Amino acid sequence: MKPFEQPIYVTQPILPDLDELAVKLKEIWGAKWLTNHGRQHNELKDKLRVFLKVPHLSLFTNGTIALATAVRCLELNGEVITSPFTFPATPHVLFWNNVTPVFCDIDEQSLTINADALEQMITPKTTGILGVHVYGNPCNVLKLQKIANKHGLKIIYDAAHAFGSEIDGVGIGNFGDISMFSFHATKVFHTAEGGALTFKEPAFETTAKLLKNFGIKNEEEVVLPGINGKMNEIQAALGLINLTLIEEEWRKREKISATYKRCLAGIEGVRLCEPPSNVRNSYQYVAIRINKDELNLSRDEVYERFKKYNVFTRKYFYPLCSDYAHCCQLPSSAPSNLPIARKVASEVLCMPLYGDLELGAVEKICELLRSFNKVRCPESVF
Ligand SMILES: *Cc1c(COP(=O)(O)O)cnc(C)c1O
Repeated sequence: MKPFEQPIYVTQPILPDLDELAVKLKEIWGAKWLTNHGRQHNELKDKLRVFLKVPHLSLFTNGTIALATAVRCLELNGEVITSPFTFPATPHVLFWNNVTPVFCDIDEQSLTINADALEQMITPKTTGILGVHVYGNPCNVLKLQKIANKHGLKIIYDAAHAFGSEIDGVGIGNFGDISMFSFHATKVFHTAEGGALTFKEPAFETTAKLLKNFGIKNEEEVVLPGINGKMNEIQAALGLINLTLIEEEWRKREKISATYKRCLAGIEGVRLCEPPSNVRNSYQYVAIRINKDELNLSRDEVYERFKKYNVFTRKYFYPLCSDYAHCCQLPSSAPSNLPIARKVASEVLCMPLYGDLELGAVEKICELLRSFNKVRCPESVF
């Protein structure tokens, strides 16, 4: 098979019609109001609250600042138990709040934090749990809540991959104390850069609102050591238009995911990571796992082979956060503590997924993968 003529990347952002965006920009120019809770911001906030089916929501300039604000909001200190199988932002917001991340192994099926292992890791210093709904697969929210209640811990969820995910029809942002959504350009719904927190308690929304605006209460009172985390009007305008495009994007991604599922079936050593049937898929990623012994090729070999055909998959998440230079000395980073996470990190590969990806291209990508294990490249250096 010939390589693709144009490179195929793991994702492409949804982009609105420029004329439609121009209409919104004219509104902003007319108002001469560019940030600090303007009209576009307020409208997006209201719409997202309804869309995500959550009681309280606050918009941020990006997901990482939102997550750091959530940690501050709940006044977490000491140790927080989290997953090593995630994006760097997850443990890093703990460091930025002087909290020590404690890495807990993940569940082989959901790839989220293993609730049983987690309970063993609680110490008198533990103040919270930071779970990650990886690829939109929810954490074991009920079990984690039980553990949190029993030990007096707070729960934050990194729901960056889980926009639109629901468990039995309940919006994913309703679990735990605070959830974070990322609206980065690589996410299924985006505002170029952006993010949100959702809250169970209205009091936390009030605190987060202060914290994301320097702690300014009014012209003469600054009551908290806040930061600048506000979403501006241009981000919000982009979000308002993108929100009208999301259902169509999901429909296309659903078809693409189904095509992957159909075409990958029967390739020994390749399996799809899918959410359980009671979960609404966010279609953020199509992740596969590669069993080296069954496929006769490692994940890294598959990744390199795809590159030769102009297909750029991503190893989300390799390396594990626990292997970063500033994390590997933590006791919980010991490889013996994280056997499943280590195995999974060596097996996963995220395949190209975006609405404009043609189904024919998906079929060809799967056909390529099927062919890799048959003919080993003569020039192979692996
Ligand atoms: C994208 C992402 C973030 C960071 O969000 P930003 O909006 O880019 O700051 C955090 N956690 C996970 C799991 C992510 O995928």
